[in-house]
Amino acid sequence: MSNAKQVDPAKAAELFIIHDQIHEPMHDRFLWGTMQRRDAEAAAIPEWEELREIASKIKEHTLTHLDHYLEEFEANATKRGAHVHWALDAAEHNEIVHSILKDHGVKEMIKSKSMLQEECHMTPFLENRGIKVIESDLGERIQQLDGQPPSHIVFPAIHKTRKDVAQLFARTVGTDPNNDDPHLLTEVIRNNARPRFLATGAGMTGGNFAIAETGTFMVCTNEGNADIGASVPPLHIASIGIEKLIPRVEDMGVFLRLLARSAEGSPLTQYSSHFSGPRKGGELHIVLVDNGRSRRLGMADFWHSLKCIRCGACMNTCPVYRRSGGLSYGATYSGPIGVILDPTFDEFKYSELPFHSTLCGSCSDVCPVKIDISDQILKWRRVMAERGYLPLVKRMSFAVAGHVLGHPEEYHAMEKVAAPAMDYAPHFLLYNRSLNPWGRSRELPQIAKQTFRDWYLANRSEHADDEQ
Ligand code: SF4
Repeated sequence: MSNAKQVDPAKAAELFIIHDQIHEPMHDRFLWGTMQRRDAEAAAIPEWEELREIASKIKEHTLTHLDHYLEEFEANATKRGAHVHWALDAAEHNEIVHSILKDHGVKEMIKSKSMLQEECHMTPFLENRGIKVIESDLGERIQQLDGQPPSHIVFPAIHKTRKDVAQLFARTVGTDPNNDDPHLLTEVIRNNARPRFLATGAGMTGGNFAIAETGTFMVCTNEGNADIGASVPPLHIASIGIEKLIPRVEDMGVFLRLLARSAEGSPLTQYSSHFSGPRKGGELHIVLVDNGRSRRLGMADFWHSLKCIRCGACMNTCPVYRRSGGLSYGATYSGPIGVILDPTFDEFKYSELPFHSTLCGSCSDVCPVKIDISDQILKWRRVMAERGYLPLVKRMSFAVAGHVLGHPEEYHAMEKVAAPAMDYAPHFLLYNRSLNPWGRSRELPQIAKQTFRDWYLANRSEHADDEQ
């Protein structure tokens, strides 16, 4: 068991929900709108399900032959003039990046959004060694100025309102706190970042896909910030998780059709850039990072999570994520993908996350690479129970629920008394923090007077037909 403190997502979600009446509904509304755009885009492509199937199969094939494709990528990238490094874990990744920057005398670096670099906690590592790191993605820069990690893998500051950003910029870059015009706020950050692009000694990116047959990699953004960061400074460093490999360029046709549609409901990101070796007169370093991925690949129940292309669709559709905010997960990855990834880094610390889900299955339905997310969440619950990580109240309530659900007659008897009992149960009992950690920040809905079973017997059963 790790020494890290267990994350309490219910308590953290409560802070987001009770903060005011604005943030949670705004968050929910925006992400649901994104989901509706995704649904419309998917519906407009007749072969959408076929594309998901092919993407899933390509990922499965690549992960099954990962050693081969990694070596092929390394050989081809090296032929193109890139320096390829291998990092076993986050510490090695950070050391490699630091030594490259040190060798080049870089004191300030500009970087684009990368969840892998977040996962490695690279920025604090470099800043503790005297290297200033500037985020060039607008959402990431907002989060950096606020001292917070990203709350969403595609929309890092989506839990903030325009007013929040105006006040943050007033505190940090001296704008008018009452002017929350998004054009002005964007312009301020652009003007702030541009001179740095020109002056900095290094630009850093991640990589959405690394193509084995060419030794090239792709970065998809909407702001073009990765492209400037990679092409203006003389030194470009890209850190790429080893699961980002795909075999051939033609596979990109499948993934590019799925990625932006799933992520934000648009046909493509504004920029889908291929990087093929260093720019003229420049230097390119690619750091291939494991950080637990090989171990995950050996986990029979959980290795499919390595197929993830970080589109965020599972987060946008998740009713728990939309209403509790990404920071409530207390981890690098939030939402359903976070629930299945985070425990692979620290089982005890993230042992509550698998219960941060309704198991509705919507995440699995929208995942463009067909990861069985909700099945994995359920399997993680079993792991946490077997490891003895569940608190006493949860253990007792699951024992009672298991007994009742295994005995239909007791279940039906409880159904009959549940609705009237709820009307009379004292508030302190229903919303008790230990018995119902989610209740403190949410009112329970009114329980229906008629159960679905009774309604079905009365309206849809053969017996009901006979009566009509
Ligand atoms: S698990 Fe699937 S839906 Fe979620 S971010 Fe990854 S690819 Fe997207």
